[in-house]
Amino acid sequence: MKIFVLNSGSSSVKFQLIETDQQRIDSHSDLRLATGLVERIGAEDAIISFESVATRDFERHVQAVFDHKTAISKIIALLEQHEIVGKSAPIEAIGHRIVHGGERFSASCLMTEETAKVIEDCIVLAPLHNPHNLKGYYVSKELFPNLPQVAVFDTAFHQTMPPEAYLYALPYHLYKQHQIRRYGFHGVSHRYVAYRYRQITGAEREKTNLITCHLGNGCSITAIENGISVDTSMGMTPLEGLIMGTRSGDLDAAIVIYLMLQEEMSSSDVTNLLMKQSGLFGISGESNDMRQLMTSMVQGNARARLAIEMFCYRLRKYIGAYTAALGRVDALIFTGGIGENASLIREKTCERLEGLGYVLDRERNQAVKEGEISAPVSRTKIWVIPTNEEVLIARDTYRTILGIPHH
Ligand code: ADP
Repeated sequence: MKIFVLNSGSSSVKFQLIETDQQRIDSHSDLRLATGLVERIGAEDAIISFESVATRDFERHVQAVFDHKTAISKIIALLEQHEIVGKSAPIEAIGHRIVHGGERFSASCLMTEETAKVIEDCIVLAPLHNPHNLKGYYVSKELFPNLPQVAVFDTAFHQTMPPEAYLYALPYHLYKQHQIRRYGFHGVSHRYVAYRYRQITGAEREKTNLITCHLGNGCSITAIENGISVDTSMGMTPLEGLIMGTRSGDLDAAIVIYLMLQEEMSSSDVTNLLMKQSGLFGISGESNDMRQLMTSMVQGNARARLAIEMFCYRLRKYIGAYTAALGRVDALIFTGGIGENASLIREKTCERLEGLGYVLDRERNQAVKEGEISAPVSRTKIWVIPTNEEVLIARDTYRTILGIPHH
């Protein structure tokens, strides 16, 4: 089945066209046909990037794109021009990445008016994402009224967390009244690498405990017990938890009050500070990009070193905490731009974890792109697995339409 995977944001639309079916899922041979994005939607000089995977044709256009409908129409036109889709090989379904499903969605589901209404109700929880995700759906529906569409949520995987993990120690009525609780995000990525680990090793889902670290611009870590998420580091919003590119992760909530009083900062000033000016960028004063910081550290930049040390230290503490939460861990998995590529970060993070049973193999850690990087003596396996969120969205879209159960 040819599936159009859409990630529709406020000023950008990312897409992939993926061919998948049960046999391809089982043999891990889903086929990426095209990929690309439209950036700066709303501007005269929006950028359209498009790649046909088979022919390696790459195109980049700078032109006015004022709305999401134009952006998606341009993508479809390029797919047709390149003869990747057409009358004899049409798009058969559309899968949407939806950031917040609140407590209502614990799995991917068909996009209906009712689904859209619930996603709309969740806007209050993700005002920067859900409205734009929905725009992607409404435009797709207009362009392809007869195609089945599926919603795949970042939060759904974590709906299995028990109350002791998802509640904040605030007055209980705030949970009931305002749904203030931890939801977790990056569920598509955590789920993908957990599945991939079991697929490669043949481990049984119901008997496998994993800790998965998604380290990209946003970072989160998840404890997976017998196949289900039992704790994760992001909370009610994607601000909580690990140190990220520009986000602070965990901090004493009283700092917010202090800044508002002492610096007379407004709520939007503080939001901007914590979301956009903090994390690796805030500490280093230089960059949110781990590659850049690693280069600066080698050149002797002390603040870049500090940012990296803090990043790894926070992550190590979480691995310790989740090891305790799970009791027994079969494998620790690194993924995301940093997790997949930065062997130095994996090495620094695993320092001092030997006592907990995690021993990295230095050579494997440098060399392996997908597979085990732990030493034979390691009680717990350590793995690196490249994530592929788009493929999981395509697979869920296929399985949801056909009513095939999926994990
Ligand atoms: P996003 O969360 O936006 O999908 P990615 O998963 O692509 O982001 O991760 C981006 C991060 O990965 C950046 O900090 C980038 O520096 C880092 N990264 C990518 N490649 C490497 C590399 N080879 N070595 C170190 N860090 C890398």
